[in-house]
Amino acid sequence: MIQAGMNIARLGLAHGSHDEAQERVELIRRIAAEEKTPVGILIDLPGPKVRSANFGQEPVTFAEGSKLTLRVGNHASTAQNVEVDYAGLISDIDPGDVVSIGDGRVMVKILDATDDQLNAEVAHGGTLSGRPGIHIPAERLSLATPTPEDMVAVERFAALKVDMLAVSFVRSAADLVRVGTPSHPEGPLVIAKIETAEAIKNLPEIIEASGAVMVARGDLGLECGIEGLPSIQKHIIRECISSGRPAITATQMLETMIENPEPTRAEVSDVANAVWDGSSAVMLSGETAIGVDPVNVIATMARIVDHADLAFDHRSWADDLAEIRLTDRKVPETSITDAMTLATARAVNELGIKTILCISGSGFTVRSMARFRPKARILGYSANENTVGQLSLSWGTEPRLLPTEGAIEGRIMAAVCLARDSGDLQEGELVAVLAGTSESSRSTNVLRIQIVPAAE
Ligand code: PGA
Ligand code: MN
Repeated sequence: MIQAGMNIARLGLAHGSHDEAQERVELIRRIAAEEKTPVGILIDLPGPKVRSANFGQEPVTFAEGSKLTLRVGNHASTAQNVEVDYAGLISDIDPGDVVSIGDGRVMVKILDATDDQLNAEVAHGGTLSGRPGIHIPAERLSLATPTPEDMVAVERFAALKVDMLAVSFVRSAADLVRVGTPSHPEGPLVIAKIETAEAIKNLPEIIEASGAVMVARGDLGLECGIEGLPSIQKHIIRECISSGRPAITATQMLETMIENPEPTRAEVSDVANAVWDGSSAVMLSGETAIGVDPVNVIATMARIVDHADLAFDHRSWADDLAEIRLTDRKVPETSITDAMTLATARAVNELGIKTILCISGSGFTVRSMARFRPKARILGYSANENTVGQLSLSWGTEPRLLPTEGAIEGRIMAAVCLARDSGDLQEGELVAVLAGTSESSRSTNVLRIQIVPAAE
C-alpha cells in the first residue's frame, strides 16, 4: 500500500482493540522505514458512535420489506436481529423513525417498540458486514465527545507519538480542547471530524481550535441531508484554506471498489473534484479496510489525484487565494507569511521553478505554502521529527528531516545540499527556498531563489 501511494494510515479505534492498533502502529513504522517513505499515522477516536454487533466478514443481505428487531447488545447481529451497543437505543428512537445502518447502505423503518426491542421493517435493502454504524441524530444522543474511552486512547497513542488524532462527532471547539494534548508539533495534529449539524454552525471556532479538518461525509450526509453535501464540502475546504488548515475529504470515495476492480465514473469524478475543491488529502475507508484489493484501490486513487493535479488551474487558484481572507491578519507574523508564500507562488509560476524547499519548525510555513497549490513540488524540511510526520498530511509535500539546527544561512545551504545529494534537486537548476529567521514559529521572512550548486 505504501508503494502504491499511501501517505497516511488511519487506524480507526472503532474496530478492534487498542492493543491491535498499537501493533499496527509498530508494523507501519517498521515497513515505512524499510521503504524509506514517510507514512503518517492517524488514530481515529470513535467518539459516541453507535454501532451494531458484528455481522461477520461475509455480507449479510437485507431484503426490502423483511421484518427485523433491534435490541441492545454487543454479541452478534443477523438479518433478523441487529444488536446495538447503546443503552439508550429504545428510548432515543421512536416508532416512525427511519434508521440508517452503515452510512445509508440499509434503511429500516421502526414500526413499534416494546420494553426490550424495536420492531422494524427494511425500507431500503442492501448488504452489511463487520460492525456498521447506526445513525442516531446527534441532538438526541446524550453522549459527548471525546468519550472516556477516547481519552484512554489519547493518553496511550499520544505517548506513542502518533502524528494525528482525529476526534469524531465534534460539536464545538471545546470538544477539541478537551483532548488536552500539547499543541502541535509537540503533540499530535488534532483533526476535527466535521460530521454533525452543530459543527457546521460552529465551523470557524472549530477550525481555529483544530490542527486539521476532515469532511466526514458519511455521518455528515446523515445529519445534513446528502443533497447539501457537495456545497458543504466546498465551504468547509475553503474555510480551511483560508485558515491554513489541511482538509481531508473522506468516505465513499471509491466505495464500489470494496468489491470491484474499477471505480464507477461518478467516483472518479468525485475524487478529482475533491482535489479541485482544494482537499489536502483524500481518504479511503471500507475500500482498504475490508475491500478485496486495497493495493489496487490506492493505486487507482493515486492515478486519479495525480491526473487531477496535472489539470489543476494553479494560476487562477493563486489569484483567487490572494483575494480571500488568509490567516489571521491581527497577528503580524502570519500576514508576513501570507505575503511571502504568495510571492513564492508567483515567482515559481514566472520562473518555471520545479521545487520549493521550505524550512519549517512547526510546519506552519509548509502548510501556508501548500495552500497556494503551486505548480511545483514542496520539500518540507524540519529539524523537528514530529513536524516531519505531521507534514504527511500537507498537499504536494514531501516531508524530510533536516538534521542541521542553528543559523538560517547554514540551514538553507544544508537543506539544498541534502536535497541535491538525495537526487531531489539537480545541480544547476533553480530552486526557491522559503524559511524564517526569527524564533517565532509563525513567521516566514526569507525567500531565496538560487541555482543549486555543484557537489564539492
Ligand atoms: P468514520 O468517519 O468513517 O469514522 O465514520 C468518517 C465519516 O463519517 O465520513
Ligand atoms: Mn463518521
